Amino acid sequence: MEVTRLSSAKSVQPLKPAKAVSLDEEPTKASDALPLPLHLTNAVFFTLFFSVVYFLLSRWREKIRTSTPLHVVTFSEIVAILAFFASFIYLLGFFGIDFVQSLVFRPTPDVWISEDEEEENEVLLRKEDARKVPCGQALDCSLPLLPPQAPIVTAQKVFDEKPVTVLTEEDEEIIKAVVAGTTPSYSLESKLGDCKRAAAIRREALQRLTGKSLSGLPLEGLDYESILGQCCEMPVGYVQIPVGIAGPLLLNGKEFSVPMATTEGCLVASTNRGCKAIHLSGGATGILLKDGMTRAPVVRFGTAKRAADLKLYLEDPNSFETLSVVFNRSSRFGRLQSIKCAIAGKNLYMRFTCSTGDAMGMNMVSKGVQNVLDFLQADFPDMDVLGISGNFCSDKKPAAVNWIEGRGKSVVCEAIIKGDVVRKVLKTSVESLVELNMLKNLTGSAMAGALGGFNAHAGNIVSAVFLATGQDPAQNVESSHCITMMEAVNDGKDLHVSVTMPSIEVGTVGGGTQLASQSACLNLLGVKGANKEAPGANSRTLATIVAGAVLAGELSLMSAISAGQLVKSHMKYNRSSKDVSKA
Ligand code: ADP
Repeated sequence: MEVTRLSSAKSVQPLKPAKAVSLDEEPTKASDALPLPLHLTNAVFFTLFFSVVYFLLSRWREKIRTSTPLHVVTFSEIVAILAFFASFIYLLGFFGIDFVQSLVFRPTPDVWISEDEEEENEVLLRKEDARKVPCGQALDCSLPLLPPQAPIVTAQKVFDEKPVTVLTEEDEEIIKAVVAGTTPSYSLESKLGDCKRAAAIRREALQRLTGKSLSGLPLEGLDYESILGQCCEMPVGYVQIPVGIAGPLLLNGKEFSVPMATTEGCLVASTNRGCKAIHLSGGATGILLKDGMTRAPVVRFGTAKRAADLKLYLEDPNSFETLSVVFNRSSRFGRLQSIKCAIAGKNLYMRFTCSTGDAMGMNMVSKGVQNVLDFLQADFPDMDVLGISGNFCSDKKPAAVNWIEGRGKSVVCEAIIKGDVVRKVLKTSVESLVELNMLKNLTGSAMAGALGGFNAHAGNIVSAVFLATGQDPAQNVESSHCITMMEAVNDGKDLHVSVTMPSIEVGTVGGGTQLASQSACLNLLGVKGANKEAPGANSRTLATIVAGAVLAGELSLMSAISAGQLVKSHMKYNRSSKDVSKA
């Protein structure tokens, strides 16, 4: 095992010439050597190359014949040798520059490895790195750790470049009807009974109506039946987001390969580096503090006194049993935990909290709340229900109530990062990290009047994991509430780092979690679907993984900032050297 790790040391060395390349500039081409058209430049160098080769060979033959030493060269021979090298470099550049550049300038998979990294440190870290699953540069990817196995054949082709849906004459009639407005676009699924065909027809009608092409937005490769009535209405295709893997994240003694769907360069690599630091330090611990989804309807009375009467009734412990029986009728999994009320004049906001098993739980809690409202009407006939959601819940908006009371899963996750790892993997020091955390994540955020934003970039990791695992991306707002703490421990040698996230809203059943790609990502984490033995265990594990990945992301970004690497890495990996104007 050790041999395997040591042998990979070369593959992780940073490649120095990348420093010299400006990513903003048009790359220099070999044909720029002379201010001539390309074919003339080529002709000049070809002629020069073959002429000097011929000249030098004939001089060589002459010297052998006259027994003249080879190193005695005349002026014309020196010129010929120089011309030989110049034309050779040109021809190599012309035919092979992409190949040469790809060898020389290829980025390392680990963005965050600095170019002056010491070999000695790498060897030490590889020795210590006991992670089993190879991932990113953090581990040896070049050599198989498992015995060779039969190739895995994917069951389903996910994306065909050529559309396979062929529109028929009958379809053409329907497209014309949609374009003319006689057939509503939204009714296609129910009219045709074929969701894929409906999407193809809608797409074609849309292109004709707008005069804009949708080429590039794939149609093939999505099971349109699976989104009907649950995930998206009036589909015309789907957007592709690459999924990268960070990890393994060693959390509560288990390794997780964390899928992240993102188009932001650096993000996965950076989180991966954080995972490496955590792994080398013995892993992280995640603790679930609370698990309850909330919904808060708003009701109005004739007087504030009547609103207060209902508040007192709802918050009376004697009422709880009756109310929970009514509430819990909605689902096998929804279990009322508490009701907390707030009054604004004669309006009452009742925040119901309930456990929701493996579902994120918004539907479940809403059904339970509706049951209770119907029940309350008997004793409070003057109660006017204004809305099942009165924003005191609070869903998809930054709100102090979630930050203080929690919503969904409340998780704290911690790790002690060894001083050595801070220096060699994170390229910074415990002292700088603690200071930066205090001035940026705590003081800086306080100066900005942050609400739950006492972190470096929790939202980055949360949204990438949410997209990959089929969570509601809009719930990134409160799910990213996080306070990151850093403290020097063990006589200042090591770093204690923690993230506290009071409102991570995740589920492993319902919504987007059942779609094929998202479900595959949940499967990778071992939390796909409902947990039969312990309902809710899968979604709770997922919440802990989200917090663990945030911990890794915080560690890495904070280190990059404290080491002054952030801009350099982003310039290098967030900007392709492709000429966008020619795309
Ligand atoms: P949400 O409340 O997150 O919107 P849904 O209501 O769409 O979720 O999905 C939850 C559904 O899944 C419910 O019908 C529920 O009965 C069912 N279900 C099956 N197993 C579980 C489980 N382990 N935890 C929660 N819900 C489950």
